Amino acid sequence: MRAAIMDAPFKMRVGDWEMPEPGPGEVLVSVGATGICAGDMYIYRGTNPYASYPVIGGHEIAGTVAAVGEQVTGIELGTHVVVEPFIGCGICYPCRVGKRNCCANLQIIGAHRPGGFAEAVTAPAKNIHKVPEGLSMAFASFAEPVAIGVQACRRGAVTAGEYVLILGCGPIGLALIEVAQARGARPIAADLVPDRLETARKLGADVLVADDTLLQNVLDQTDGEGAPVVIEATGNLKAMEQTVDLVASGGRIVIVGLVKKGVGVTFPGLDFTRKEMTIVGSRASVNCFPESLELLASGKISYPQTATEFNMWTAPAVFAELSEHPTSIQKGVLVRDT
Ligand SMILES: [Zn+2]
Ligand SMILES: [Zn+2]
Repeated sequence: MRAAIMDAPFKMRVGDWEMPEPGPGEVLVSVGATGICAGDMYIYRGTNPYASYPVIGGHEIAGTVAAVGEQVTGIELGTHVVVEPFIGCGICYPCRVGKRNCCANLQIIGAHRPGGFAEAVTAPAKNIHKVPEGLSMAFASFAEPVAIGVQACRRGAVTAGEYVLILGCGPIGLALIEVAQARGARPIAADLVPDRLETARKLGADVLVADDTLLQNVLDQTDGEGAPVVIEATGNLKAMEQTVDLVASGGRIVIVGLVKKGVGVTFPGLDFTRKEMTIVGSRASVNCFPESLELLASGKISYPQTATEFNMWTAPAVFAELSEHPTSIQKGVLVRDT
């Protein structure tokens, strides 16, 4: 089959790859569209420690069921589906307590095993979710990033009527704005890039510039209390440390952004008890795809419209361009028409 193959860092080509066969309990999905994520750029740039080359990236996958393996029942060929890329071992502690997103032996489709920048991909049948009527392939491929927003809102127990401060208006920050809004919360989005703030504003968030004025502006907007929920989606060390000042006493901080391995984050210890805040991490998503697909189908999530679609087989040029100019587009989706 045809695939966009990464042979080594910065070396991507469209070439031949053996057509995968669905094993027992697996399905073969003919790819319709696959989103390009920061995680794919890490593999492209050689900064993902788990990738071994050659590799096919792409974990935000929408497509059509093309074949099913043994022991798979109840899935009709031709069904439009999205692929949940995280495969847990089912045995380790996090898997046993329902957190396979943190599995000690996690396998990710598009990193540890071949992903969606290809004609087809295999996945366990339990990892596929039926796409509601009327969603295009490109739109459906957003089920994965939107699920990350759902997970973060669940982790932060985001509820109606409260302010949610979202730090960072990249693809995940934008998803967070709309997921929070769908829950009736009032998103305030902060970023430094004017284009991103403009998009955030169009999606319905109040926006603030993430410079020295941020803390004062957040306090002004929240009657001096701080935000009940702060969701960190930048991975920027300074932003992460500032969450403690931005959150209201008794509030919740959700860390979604990633800092580099080994980098410490310093919080003033007294604030933990003084403010009695809750700090939680949020990793990818677990059991969030159904809600994510429902949100996409309901029209409550519109940010996929800001994405730029490219033909799947132009992937090498698209990756080279995005590697050079990471903020040249908001989000890219590779769409297959052949
Ligand atoms: Zn992703
Ligand atoms: Zn596990």
